[in-house]
Amino acid sequence: MQWLDEHCDVLSKMWENLSEHLFYDANSKLDSSYHKLREAAVALQVFAIWVPESVPRAERLSVALKQADLFYEQIIQQRKQVHLVDTKSQLKKCSQNRMGAILTMEGADALQGELENLRLFFRLGVRQLGLTWNYANEAADGIEEDRNGGLTLFGKKLIAEMERLGIILDVSHLSVRGFWEVIGTNLPILASHSNCLSITPHKRNLDDEQIRAIINKQGLIGITFVPSFVCQPSHKATVDHILRHIEHVCSLGGENHLCFGSDFDGIENKIKNLRNYKEIYHLKNALLQHYPESMVKKWAWDNGFEFYLKHLPS
Ligand SMILES: [Zn+2]
Repeated sequence: MQWLDEHCDVLSKMWENLSEHLFYDANSKLDSSYHKLREAAVALQVFAIWVPESVPRAERLSVALKQADLFYEQIIQQRKQVHLVDTKSQLKKCSQNRMGAILTMEGADALQGELENLRLFFRLGVRQLGLTWNYANEAADGIEEDRNGGLTLFGKKLIAEMERLGIILDVSHLSVRGFWEVIGTNLPILASHSNCLSITPHKRNLDDEQIRAIINKQGLIGITFVPSFVCQPSHKATVDHILRHIEHVCSLGGENHLCFGSDFDGIENKIKNLRNYKEIYHLKNALLQHYPESMVKKWAWDNGFEFYLKHLPS
């Protein structure tokens, strides 16, 4: 069974400390190093550019560019085993022997309020963008902002330009108001790493109305392995708790809209027995105990693949 992962933070981790986090090092400290992904048969990994809040505003663009450079120098160009997926035809080349890599941005902070920068990142291969991380930026409010603001004027212009270019919108981390503002747009939408609020009450999870709206829009929900989104208290999170979120999305009609977004390398704490992709078989075995293999394959691969086949440029 091959896997598609909607979110990892390999690029920001490499940027923070490259010498410790080499993607192709067999002993790499990365949760999502090449060898671990390969062993788990991950055939498509989404790599997010993420600029930490601690980076001063004036340096955010430069840091994002450095992460894009790491993506090409350290992941795409260094070896033949991983290829850039920025079109439908590149997507079709993904296999267990040849992993694809999609470049995305988690938060529009690095665009520094300029549409030109969005267009340049699109030319650099970025095909998916989340407007915010947890806090407010030039485009919108993130989910941790108590005022729950929606999109700014720039955020609305950004959406229009994303529609024109054909960039997929990621709603994980976005404020609730922002979510309902973008759900009405023509953009393809996914939540790359969010779970169900009614199963685990955490701000970053989606309520049932949001889940139904994503399903109605033919979008995707990437069930994530962040312990505090999976179970409260988070130290008790197990692989079985992940199944409760899957079951819930299915109960709302989302069987064909489920996938996974691990958030590996973006989290310090892990679910016991699911610390990286080498341990994904624990999840696979748990799923196969409850669901037919054809259904598990949809969540591991098919749903995400079909989504990108529909929405990536030709
Ligand atoms: Zn995140």
